[in-house]
Amino acid sequence: MVGPDRESPRLPVAVITGRPNVGKSTLFNRLIGRRVAVVEDTPGITRDRLYGEADWNGRRFTVVDTGGITTYSDELSEQIRLQANVALAEADVVLFMVDAKDGINPADEELANLLRPIKVPILLVVNKADNRNLEDMSAEFFALGYGKPYPISSIHSHGVGELLDELVFQLPSFQEEPETREPIRLAVIGRPNVGKSSLVNAVLGEDRTIVSAIPGTTRDAIDTPFTWKGEELSLIDTAGLRRPGRVQGSFEFYMALRAKRAAERSEVCAVVCDASEGFTDGDNRAAGIAHEAKRAVVWVANKWDLVEPPDGRPNARTKLKKEFADVIHQDAPHLAYTPICFTSAKLGIGIDAFMDTCIEAYENYNTRITTGVLNRILHDATYEKPYTHKGKALKTYYATMAKTQPPTVVIFVNDPKIVHFSYQRYLQNRIRQEYPLEGSPLILEFRSAHRRE
Ligand code: GDP
Ligand code: GDP
Repeated sequence: MVGPDRESPRLPVAVITGRPNVGKSTLFNRLIGRRVAVVEDTPGITRDRLYGEADWNGRRFTVVDTGGITTYSDELSEQIRLQANVALAEADVVLFMVDAKDGINPADEELANLLRPIKVPILLVVNKADNRNLEDMSAEFFALGYGKPYPISSIHSHGVGELLDELVFQLPSFQEEPETREPIRLAVIGRPNVGKSSLVNAVLGEDRTIVSAIPGTTRDAIDTPFTWKGEELSLIDTAGLRRPGRVQGSFEFYMALRAKRAAERSEVCAVVCDASEGFTDGDNRAAGIAHEAKRAVVWVANKWDLVEPPDGRPNARTKLKKEFADVIHQDAPHLAYTPICFTSAKLGIGIDAFMDTCIEAYENYNTRITTGVLNRILHDATYEKPYTHKGKALKTYYATMAKTQPPTVVIFVNDPKIVHFSYQRYLQNRIRQEYPLEGSPLILEFRSAHRRE
């Protein structure tokens, strides 16, 4: 699985695949230490056996039972393809289960082929090897091309210990806490004269040593490492640099290019605007740069000292802030999830809250929602408001968090092409009802459950 540079820790994932009735849910229940659940093919019940947490000799991992994914279709090859896709998206180790009593079945061969591109270890589990005879027969499964078969009996728990020894051996190591955390990279972007330099100075304090641009160099920004309440950060400041002598194209274009590079090197972008001028198209364009780079965004309504009447009463201030926030959210509806900070860089007001908000946006940018919670939200959302396009119903099977920075959810569906933007927004909002993820984008990727990857 392809992860981003810095990922919050998650438990490694073992995915159990196999055609129906080989015994996936029996093993699943054994691994997560519950009594064998009644296996009925109704959505409510099958969802209970979707995922669980297991522990073997102190190594914890998540188990996903692909047989628990509601497929809506009775078609065997559809189910099998979906299983392979889920394994491809999520697994750190795959348990490929077959049935000792039945021998190799065409559906086993189909699954064997679909699993071929998977890069992580695949353990071939021959279940229902309840006695010696059946155990010996497991050798025939070598023909599937997945090496040594592991004969087990999920019902009697035979062989499960050896299988788990191998499984935890193959799992990637998992650290509860990252050992060292890289500094949070915070870019400050916005139109000229809105107060970016002043804000940077206010954050860094009076005695900031200005690393002046060395003449002749063409650096886009100055990075200044600093610490805020024990948190290591690096400020990427596009403000202090002067316009180089000979620049092709317009000034605005050059600024945009510089902001884009700064945004791309950051995790959080503070988009500064001059509140005394109101919210302008230029501010919206600056935010668009951060949005396109899929970075966390924090709005800064700077020069607030010029907006608020000095003798203003507290409720008048709140009203003014709300009005300003409404204008931003109306003019930039795609950034409805971004917090707004009101600052006076000149007077050093609101700087503390601004920094706290940036750090929080960074945490949100790194949020990982567990598979179980995600699927519950998705299930409820699609149940309450199903989606149909030109007579074709969208079927959602399974969701998984593919990566963070920003949180990215992969949803397996019957046809990704029919998903309209508005329904995507609906699903995003449903997730945000439980995980507001303030400041962070939330990306949904729709993938076909049927496509061969
Ligand atoms: P799934 O569809 O792959 O999840 O399979 P289930 O776990 O529902 O099992 C299908 C059937 O096989 C059930 O009747 C189980 O009791 C049975 N079964 C599961 N494991 C074993 C086993 O180790 N030995 C035998 N004899 N039967 C098993
Ligand atoms: P930059 O081009 O975005 O880096 O903007 P500067 O930080 O250079 O600020 C532009 C002008 O706005 C300067 O004259 C600052 O003194 C002024 N300024 C910056 N922040 C504030 C503020 O919070 N309140 C007021 N009244 N003026 C500010």
